[in-house]
Amino acid sequence: MDTVIATTPLFDIDAYRKNADARVLALDAQTMLLSAGVFYPVGGGQPGDTGALDIQGQSYQVLGTYRGQEHPDQIWLQLDREPEKTCLGKVASMSLDWDRRYRHMQMHTCLHLLCGLIDAPVMGCSIGANISRIDFDLPTSGITSAGVTEALNQLIQQNHSVRAFAVSQESVSVGAARSSVVRPPSFGDSVRVIEIPGVDRQACVGTHVRNTGEIAPVVCSQIRQVSTTNRRLEITWAGQCAEVA
Ligand SMILES: [Zn+2]
Repeated sequence: MDTVIATTPLFDIDAYRKNADARVLALDAQTMLLSAGVFYPVGGGQPGDTGALDIQGQSYQVLGTYRGQEHPDQIWLQLDREPEKTCLGKVASMSLDWDRRYRHMQMHTCLHLLCGLIDAPVMGCSIGANISRIDFDLPTSGITSAGVTEALNQLIQQNHSVRAFAVSQESVSVGAARSSVVRPPSFGDSVRVIEIPGVDRQACVGTHVRNTGEIAPVVCSQIRQVSTTNRRLEITWAGQCAEVA
């Protein structure tokens, strides 16, 4: 029986890890498969990571990261050029574009706080380094941008801890999946759950900060009706954090 090669997702174990070495397992045009990765692959509304690789003195830019379609536990890196064939089997030193990723971690965790504030099904979400949004199935709106801004910043300042743990598919509570539309990918028998005790608890595969106090002050910049039942809430930074692209 063929053994399917996979990438060890180091970002699942430690979202703060910025560098690591891994073995080059496969090459395909301008893409590369490594045995382990600090690069988060696009999914769950969060963009794929960028950064750089060094392989035997040769530098490559990592322009994006994604899961294999056939084998989602394989994580492929989109490179700036075709890698040398001699890379295969060699050690690659990874460097994550940390500024961009850290903004994604802050924004992503902030969207969990938003889910804790708004008791409605999530219909879609998009995380960016500067602007993020969630669509809620919320036919009537008693909420205002100013009210959401104040409540979010309160939760940020309350320094809530953020924890991740795995549960079996069967034991995952009904409330753990916030949406039947936006389902996080699951692998094997376990589901990853993110909990901010007393605020939010849901299945999620993304990267998060350890404590809400790490999130820079935010603003709810827009609340917009996007369909008969859906309302889109947009979040951006309150201060000078917006330089990170
Ligand atoms: Zn999450």
